[in-house]
Amino acid sequence: MTQPPQPVPTQETQPFWDAARDGRVVLWRCDDCGRLAHPQAPRCPDCLSESLRARPYAGRVLLKGRTVLTVPAFEGQAVPAPVAECVIEDEPRITLIAQDPEDLTRTLAPGAPVTLSFTAPGGGVPLATIGGAA
Ligand SMILES: [Zn+2]
Repeated sequence: MTQPPQPVPTQETQPFWDAARDGRVVLWRCDDCGRLAHPQAPRCPDCLSESLRARPYAGRVLLKGRTVLTVPAFEGQAVPAPVAECVIEDEPRITLIAQDPEDLTRTLAPGAPVTLSFTAPGGGVPLATIGGAA
């Protein structure tokens, strides 16, 4: 099977990918207002502070929606391929897209907590994967 397209870590996103490799979620928290931000945010989206620091996120991740790819997104992708759209409970403006190879979200309603794990098939960049209902 051909490898899926790989995210390319940058200096700003490297802490996210390092944590993902360890199976953890890291988000950026603003030192000035406390807002959580996406790993690629150069400034706090609310107060525009540059005081963002990567910190482990221990809160819940919720299912927002799901879809099933029926046409391969890249050469060699097995279909159907369920994909879950998840949000951070403490900051629902942050979305994480996760693979759902076992179709675990098929019976979950939007808002249901899910467990994310990270898998790195072939040793590439770890990708978010649904690991089951939390
Ligand atoms: Zn802020």
